[in-house]
Amino acid sequence: MQATRRQILGGLAALPLIGAVPAPRVRVVLLGTKGGPTPGPGRAAPATLIEIDGQAWVVDCGNGVANQLAKARVPLDTVARIFVTHNHSDHMADVGTLIELAWSSGLKTPVTVHGPPPIAQIVRDQLASFAYDIAGRIREEGRIPLAPLVHIDERADPGIVVRDGGTSVTSCLVDHETIKPAFAYRFDTPARSIVISGDTRYSDTLVALAKGADLLIHEAIYAPAISRMAGENAPTLADHLRRSHTSAEEVGLVAKRAGVKKLVLSHLVPGGPQVTDAMWLAAVRTNFAGEVVIGRDLMEV
Ligand SMILES: [Zn+2]
Ligand SMILES: [Zn+2]
Repeated sequence: MQATRRQILGGLAALPLIGAVPAPRVRVVLLGTKGGPTPGPGRAAPATLIEIDGQAWVVDCGNGVANQLAKARVPLDTVARIFVTHNHSDHMADVGTLIELAWSSGLKTPVTVHGPPPIAQIVRDQLASFAYDIAGRIREEGRIPLAPLVHIDERADPGIVVRDGGTSVTSCLVDHETIKPAFAYRFDTPARSIVISGDTRYSDTLVALAKGADLLIHEAIYAPAISRMAGENAPTLADHLRRSHTSAEEVGLVAKRAGVKKLVLSHLVPGGPQVTDAMWLAAVRTNFAGEVVIGRDLMEV
């Protein structure tokens, strides 16, 4: 029987193109979605995984990030890069812990930490607190020294941070009140473009960075709940939250102005059940009609 043209073309389509490099597999997982320094029962501290062809890049390292990676079935010895948006504890408490636990889980390849000052001092101090454990494991378990594996790329200025394979990472400055510099990061991979806001109030610079991105993961506060959460006697905290973070309505505006394909809310404040997904969504919908996901821990987005 003679094959039809459609069958022949269909067969050809199934063959790999000669010389074509397959697009890397890129997986994005929300490791922790609760904003702020206080631990809570329902959500882990802020961290996001971008896994590119089996290499783990981690954006922010709130407390418990190594455990969240284990729950996401990510081998710790695949951690290759860590990006810190800013040096609040909910974003950097576990940078050193993650590196140490990755190393004691078999890491033999370099890890680079990218972030604003004083990230170099922070990581040095955090790792110094493990000196006793590290020396013991080198001596008793025959592990390779950790220090030569750790590289720190501290920078105060925004711009191109990394070009690695087909992926580039660009940062911009965002406005997190007194915490300067604070960065957002954009990851342009051959498969998707992903932007992570870090902590910021509404930012036109971030809108520019996120232009046309496939995925925007943005922090959010639920404004009506902030005063109640801060308590009537804590106007300073409520004021600070409003000046240094973005309301869900404003997050919708960022997504609309940037024209992103998909918006994910993470780093939620408050992160408890008092604000339901429907409430978050209704606030975002005042400005953005596109795809919206209200983040949960370990969700692939
Ligand atoms: Zn934060
Ligand atoms: Zn912060």
